[in-house]
Amino acid sequence: MGQAKQRKAAKDSGRPWAPVMPVAVAGATGTNKAVREMAHLGTLSKLAEERTREVLQAACAADDERARLDRLHDVLAGAMGMMEAEVDSAYGQNADMIRLAKSVACRKGCAFCCHMAVEATIIEAILVWRRAAQSPAVHASVAPSANVEAHERWRKKHPCPMLGADGACQVYEDRPGGCRAFVSVDAKACERALMTAGTAEEDLTVPIVPFPRKIETAISIGVRRACAAENLQSCNVELTAALHLLASDASATGRWLAGETVFTPYP
Ligand code: SF4
Ligand code: SF4
Repeated sequence: MGQAKQRKAAKDSGRPWAPVMPVAVAGATGTNKAVREMAHLGTLSKLAEERTREVLQAACAADDERARLDRLHDVLAGAMGMMEAEVDSAYGQNADMIRLAKSVACRKGCAFCCHMAVEATIIEAILVWRRAAQSPAVHASVAPSANVEAHERWRKKHPCPMLGADGACQVYEDRPGGCRAFVSVDAKACERALMTAGTAEEDLTVPIVPFPRKIETAISIGVRRACAAENLQSCNVELTAALHLLASDASATGRWLAGETVFTPYP
């Protein structure tokens, strides 16, 4: 099936963000691997940009805040669906990749990584806040975290304010792509990295799986380009700082959708 037909079929299937190219990043082989990989990531980025622009136009044209947020949620669901489908496809490429998938150590309740600063798109931050804002406990946890510099939170072992007491993410369905794409094959290395943070023994050698991050980066670049094309502030933000802003300024989302510069870029 040609690419145009694949796009149409994907759109008609109700999963318009499903991957339309069969070549997964991790499956590229041979001397032209890097070229094929870059081409594939470029295609993902372009698709994410096109589809995000369509949804952003609908969001900006919507009558009320709720409808606008629903449209933004379509961006997140689409981008994350695309990313997860790409990652699943890569893991299924060959025996080595299947073995790699089986060695992934990430589990619910394992949350050493949830002490790192999270880089997110503005849309991701808005949607995390939309979900979190329904919980008074989460409200209370955002302000103290925001008062500690992002790089200091890791060293001081400050968890992300979205992390629950049970070690599970309280906004799991809407967590940013950066959280989804951070995948390790050694939980003990993650623990060691956190426990030695800021000490003379600091050891950050965590064996992460690289390709989910490449896919996530390509898609988030597309999302940011779409924001810029629609004249919206388009930087990445640090999640906790952005949540603090959203918690303290109810007009922030509306002003961003109106084209104002509202958020502090990160890094
Ligand atoms: S990245 Fe490390 S700390 Fe985070 S869930 Fe995976 S194994 Fe656990
Ligand atoms: S948003 Fe959720 S997954 Fe991401 S760092 Fe915070 S608690 Fe962890």
